[in-house]
Order: sequence, then C-alpha cells, then structure tokens
Amino acid sequence: MLEITNLTKRYGSFTAVDNVSFRVQPGEVLGFLGPNGAGKSTTMRMIAGFLSPTAGSARICGHDIEDEPLQAKRCMGYLPEGAPSYGEMTVRGFLDFIADIRQLTGTHRSERLQKVIGQLQLQAVLEQSVETLSKGFRRRVGVAQAILHDPQVLIMDEPTDGLDPNQKHEVRTLINAMAPGKIIVISTHILEEVDAVCTRAIILARGRIVVDETPQELAARAPSGRLDDVFRTVTA
Ligand code: ADP
Repeated sequence: MLEITNLTKRYGSFTAVDNVSFRVQPGEVLGFLGPNGAGKSTTMRMIAGFLSPTAGSARICGHDIEDEPLQAKRCMGYLPEGAPSYGEMTVRGFLDFIADIRQLTGTHRSERLQKVIGQLQLQAVLEQSVETLSKGFRRRVGVAQAILHDPQVLIMDEPTDGLDPNQKHEVRTLINAMAPGKIIVISTHILEEVDAVCTRAIILARGRIVVDETPQELAARAPSGRLDDVFRTVTA
C-alpha cells in the first residue's frame, strides 16, 4: 500500500504542498492532476524520497520514506520530471548502472534488461549516449530505469511528456499491462491519458487536494475535453 499522511512542504513562507493525505491500493492507477505549480512534482519527489517533507509522511509498502529509505525505495520505481541524468553514459551503460544499483544479478538481471529494452523499444539506441537522444527516447530510457526492478509501486512524473502520439500509446499500453496488482501514480495534464490508464483521479490546486474521484466523474466535468477547463471550475 501507498499511504500519504498530512504531507506538507514549505519554502520559507510559501506552502507548496499543504497537508495532503491519500492512500493507494494495489491495482489502482492514480492520475495526479492540477494546474502548473499545484504541487504535483513536489509531492511526487517527497514520496520518492528525493525531497524531505516539512511535515507529514509517506509510507511505501509499510516503510516510511524518511525512516526506512532503503526499504521504501527498494519496492518503488520513480520517473522524475524531465530526463534521466548521466547524459554521457550510453543507454546500455546507464541501464547496466541502474541494474547494479538495484542489485539485479544473474539470469534475472539479463532477463529484466532484455524485457524493458524490448518494452520501451530501445534496441536501436543502446550504444548511443543519453545526451544525444531525442526527448522521446530520453523519456523512454527514464521509464525503463523506473521499471527495471519490476517495483510494486511506481511513481511517474508525466511519463508520456515529449512522446509522439504512437509512443504515448505504447507507454499507456505498458502502464495498463503493468497495472494489475501494482500501485501506480502518474502525473499528467492530458484528460485522454486519465481515461486511458487511470482508475482514479486526484486534482491538486495550490498544494491541496480539491478533487478525488473516478475518471468517469472527471470526464463528466469536462465537456470540452480539456483539463484546464476543469481546473478553472474546481479552483474558482
Ligand atoms: P507542479 O508539479 O504541480 O507544476 P511543483 O510541485 O513543481 O508544481 O511546484 C509547486 C510550487 O512550489 C510552485 O509554485 C513552485 O514554484 C514552488 N517550488 C517548487 N520548488 C521550489 C523551491 N525549491 N523553492 C521555492 N519554491 C519552489
């Protein structure tokens, strides 16, 4: 289970994430939505252990991310906003490095590497350095590193950002295939994506949860098909 309790982040007098609580059960794909600056990335960074909360906690598979970071991170994959770092590494070198960090060994290691390289269609760019890749390929390398150890919990910040329509479709199909039994949280600004992969949608505005409902209920708020219109109505 993923259990977020009163999570708060303040920068000086500015509160970026304000007392956010929610739980996600296995099998749920939670869409994390909200206008720019709502606090989505900050929340995801705190859950992933990349940023310390000012208050509150995140428990991943029963492990508090602050108190037991190794145990919590072991059962979680995280795709940060933007592209993976270590641009000078080749894609193969980078994924090998991630396999080392995840302590994958033997046939399981080679099977996992082969599987994600196939799932993200990275064969053609394996010997290319990450910094020379197109935005779409970088994003796919990012998704590959997040899922390499087949984690129980997946936190992905805009996993389809920068992908062309075909690639978006591929990544959504991949998320759907992984979803049974797992806990997945993705941020997105595309309503169609919520429809395609999510079982639940949370809207964050000014650091607070303002909506927590099904994708069908969310779609009913957006006759225009545009999430921006929904944000305007729920934050008015
Ligand atoms: P979102 O992902 O929803 O677009 P963010 O989580 O990136 O929103 O940011 C939430 C708010 O926190 C924004 O107003 C942003 O400017 C602010 N913020 C993020 N990081 C910092 C920081 N290091 N210092 C000060 N303010 C920050």
